[in-house]
Amino acid sequence: MKKYMKILSVNAGSSSLKFQMYEMPEEKVLISGTFERIGIGGGFYTIKLNGEKIKKEKELADHSVAVQTLIDELLENKVIESLDEIKGVGHRIVHGGEKYASSVIINDDVIKTVEELSSLAPLHNPANLIGVRTFMELIPNATQVGCFDTAFHQTMAKREFLYPVPYEWYEKYGVRRYGFHGMSHNYIANRTAEILENPNARIISCHIGNGGSLCAIKDGKSIDTSMGFTPNAGLMMGSRSGDIDCTLIPYIMDKTGESLDEVINDLNKKSGYLGVSGISSDSRDIEDAAAQGNERAILAQDMYVEKIVNYIAEYYLELGGADAIVFTAGVGENSKDTRKAIIDRLAPLGIKIDEEANNVRGEEKLISTEDSTVKVYIIPTDEEVMIARDTFNFINK
Ligand code: ADP
Repeated sequence: MKKYMKILSVNAGSSSLKFQMYEMPEEKVLISGTFERIGIGGGFYTIKLNGEKIKKEKELADHSVAVQTLIDELLENKVIESLDEIKGVGHRIVHGGEKYASSVIINDDVIKTVEELSSLAPLHNPANLIGVRTFMELIPNATQVGCFDTAFHQTMAKREFLYPVPYEWYEKYGVRRYGFHGMSHNYIANRTAEILENPNARIISCHIGNGGSLCAIKDGKSIDTSMGFTPNAGLMMGSRSGDIDCTLIPYIMDKTGESLDEVINDLNKKSGYLGVSGISSDSRDIEDAAAQGNERAILAQDMYVEKIVNYIAEYYLELGGADAIVFTAGVGENSKDTRKAIIDRLAPLGIKIDEEANNVRGEEKLISTEDSTVKVYIIPTDEEVMIARDTFNFINK
């Protein structure tokens, strides 16, 4: 007999907390929402329930206040009758290092390890842990599960994940490529294999949003991905540079008098679309400006497309061909112009876009022509459901 249960999927940041509550195994979203400006004043939260979205102002002194408010809303709106109905809470955790190749049930050892891994993700892991600790305290009877952004990429071969730097940097300090967006690429891997009815499919997953990464997938496993030691690697992104020659860092420090932290901040927050165009990190603004003939917006768009095409070409060879190229995340799901610009560049491989099919937003769709050598899809990603699935699977064992 199937067990039905309610599972929370949580993504805690330093000043925000996003949640979805699922009825599993049907994967029905019962309620979802976001708490913002936790601990920094001016707090508020939004909740989506029964197709309605409500926003409430409330001072959120810390994550405990946010989670308690969430619990109160669940009870008031009769999403649950009592806290015991919540059987599991799945937490997104950014960095699992080499320790976690899949999700885990969180216990004291796991918390300690995630804490130790904070030196690899100083902005994210501590914030994720605040979420974990708060839910453990306030919903103590639920099974807490950690789902890592890096875990899916632990199948990469050493030749792919190592940097050509002194080997002891890897051995002593964990210097290597880890890759991120793992839950999204994993979702795309599963869903594409399902659509193609081929568990061994060769898939190039293009997660392009504000942050962006590509992933080469074979037999359901990540064999390569474009992000590296940190998420500021690989593609050009909304405000991140992606790959650069690292030697330009001391050069710019010397020329501008900026500190190391300031230059690193420039590379994360003032580069990419924003840096090149001088207009915005949002691809919609770039597309609008480019359509009006703004040269730097056109250049930014050309560069953005170029980097993605380069990775697709690389992964096409690495995979020995491809069965599907999939677009997902904000830009991938919504920007028909970016998708077309990318696919047009793949003409030498016989890959062709169906412009009419491509004229959609945010829906699962085949957008290549019938005679295209590789199928091209839009598949909206769903990282939250991956967290809910993993959490449910632990409890339902
Ligand atoms: P994040 O990496 O923050 O999760 P998202 O995946 O939500 O980002 O992607 C956000 C980006 O998606 C926006 O910055 C914007 O550039 C892009 N985007 C969203 N809608 C559209 C659209 N209609 N056309 C072009 N780009 C869009």
